[in-house]
Amino acid sequence: MMNRRQFVCTATSAAAFVRIPDVLAATTKYDLIIKGGRVIDPSRKLDATRDVGIAQGRIAAIAANISGDAAETIDAHGKLVVPGLIDIHTHAARAKEGPELCLADGVTGFIDAGSQGADRIAETIAIAKSAPQQGRVLINIGRAGILPEGDTMDLNRADVAAAREAIGRNRDMIVGIKARLSRDVAGANDFEVLRRAQEVATPFNIPVMIHMGQTVSPLPKLLALLKSGDVVTHMFAPPPNSIIDDAGHILPEVMAARRRGVRFDLGNGRSGHLRWDIADQVMKAGFLPDTFSTDWTPEGRAAGVINFENVMSKFLMLGMPLDQVIACATVNASRAFPVFRDRGTLKVGAPADVAVIELREGTFEFVDNYEGKRSGRQRLFPSATVLAGKRVATRA
Ligand SMILES: [Zn+2]
Repeated sequence: MMNRRQFVCTATSAAAFVRIPDVLAATTKYDLIIKGGRVIDPSRKLDATRDVGIAQGRIAAIAANISGDAAETIDAHGKLVVPGLIDIHTHAARAKEGPELCLADGVTGFIDAGSQGADRIAETIAIAKSAPQQGRVLINIGRAGILPEGDTMDLNRADVAAAREAIGRNRDMIVGIKARLSRDVAGANDFEVLRRAQEVATPFNIPVMIHMGQTVSPLPKLLALLKSGDVVTHMFAPPPNSIIDDAGHILPEVMAARRRGVRFDLGNGRSGHLRWDIADQVMKAGFLPDTFSTDWTPEGRAAGVINFENVMSKFLMLGMPLDQVIACATVNASRAFPVFRDRGTLKVGAPADVAVIELREGTFEFVDNYEGKRSGRQRLFPSATVLAGKRVATRA
């Protein structure tokens, strides 16, 4: 597998990347220009008022004033223009309308994280495949997927052969394995379930995402099984077995896991995953998330999660700078799965996936997963989405 540096070199030398700006220099014709927005692209450390010119589905120019012809213009004055958002833990492929709903929120790439296991993975794959944006899935190590009684409470459901067989048949769509490890999901089987998830992953060299928090096993015992590139979601889950000790210090095993390349992800969700006091302590300890994700479901749209922008806004409230908030939802997320390697950026030549977002000032209420309410002074709202260079119809 290519690392990021190799990929960038290879891609830059490819004819498609070099040719497009030349053609444009001759004709100055764009399919779409996003005018006058505050362009924040953490991949290039850019934060400035710019026009974004798009042609042939790719970013063709970023400049203070682009004057050429365009078939369509988006007026982004007073708005943020950022790379299309990438949500690495959603359940968007659980329902047919899921991908389009989050696309309208600016989510131009998603990972359905473990909605289904080997038995019914074809259902989530079919939805991800028909999604307008890039959608991929993680296979739940529990072969029956998410179950009210607990995915792997019956250890026989953590079926290595069945999961491997499903991945083998769908190498292009299954990009990792999800292991949900809370006591109400895996009970005392957590360690063995994770061991089996890694056994599935090994021959394919793909990541495992663990759902941490309220596990039977101590977190350090589980982290010991994680390799570089694996993802820990629900990083702000309260005890038992959170990432901090009683004194608010990040566990040394958590620090060590990050050093060896394990990623730590938000996974907002609706219950058991996010509590304000834990988030305060973790942020205060300087252990910022690598990525944000919503753990979004169609039901979550009504309360708690709402949309990716609402989830991002919670971290503005918690004191994270805006460019870092954007980075967690774009460039950082693009590094978590190879399918997104050329996304999460607005550099010239990149696929033109763009989110136009409004940053409103006022008083906004945010909730954690424990009915804790907090109010913040800023909130992000989706305004327009561009996917592969085309404006997506806005949601009613
Ligand atoms: Zn989830």
